[in-house]
Amino acid sequence: MSDGGVNKTAQLRIGKSLVIAIDGPSGSGKSSVAREVARRLGLAYQDTGAMYRALTLVCLENRVAVQNQAAVEALAKRFYYEQWFDPGVDMVAAGVDAEDALDVTDEIREPRVSEAVSAVATNLGARTELIRRQRAAIDSVRHRMVVEGRDITTVVAPQAEVRLLLTASEEARLARRGAQLAANGEKQSTEQLAEQVLARDAKDSTVVDFQRAADGVVTLDSSDLDFEQTVQAVLRLVQESVGG
Ligand code: C5P
Repeated sequence: MSDGGVNKTAQLRIGKSLVIAIDGPSGSGKSSVAREVARRLGLAYQDTGAMYRALTLVCLENRVAVQNQAAVEALAKRFYYEQWFDPGVDMVAAGVDAEDALDVTDEIREPRVSEAVSAVATNLGARTELIRRQRAAIDSVRHRMVVEGRDITTVVAPQAEVRLLLTASEEARLARRGAQLAANGEKQSTEQLAEQVLARDAKDSTVVDFQRAADGVVTLDSSDLDFEQTVQAVLRLVQESVGG
């Protein structure tokens, strides 16, 4: 089997840390690729975008204006957030506190959240708190995790054993996000889609640079690769970085 060596790589590192950090813009396919890589290597999986989305949803549901920096930061510090790190389970719960927490797995993907999330992600006080929680999550699985987002290779886990920037052309990213939304039964106009993907990346870029690879970070352009080819390319990179 072509991934036999890679599985062996993961086994070789049993008892040792194996953090695979993956950054990239929206529509680069990083969430589904990262989840599948985690599944094949027997690692935990953390989607950090889900945490920004959950905080945004909790703001919207509790009439906290996402522009209100102090209020959003205060909520970031106390809101309840739980993500299942098993790559086979897509489940996120959140609320103002534990009593208020609900399953928000589907709601955090709604366009109203995608449109408001950059305001929360550019709030530096809130970011500091979410980064702290993301690092604690990596600690909780003894550093055996695929972690995906915008600032994982540079800020959240710069010491990760494998650091990767997953990119794709604008055309490929728009097509993938459109197909993903359609599969979820959501119809979006071309303008709405472009706003979600491109304008969101432009806003996000003001606080994190995820368009260029930092020193030591490998860039993988998936524009001309299908899903399985991209997963294989990541697995090969893991093997090259930590195998043998
Ligand atoms: O990855 P996803 O598109 O779900 O991320 C949603 C939003 O969360 C991004 O547009 C960005 O504003 C924010 N984000 C971030 N840093 C991360 C992950 C996500 O700022 N590490």
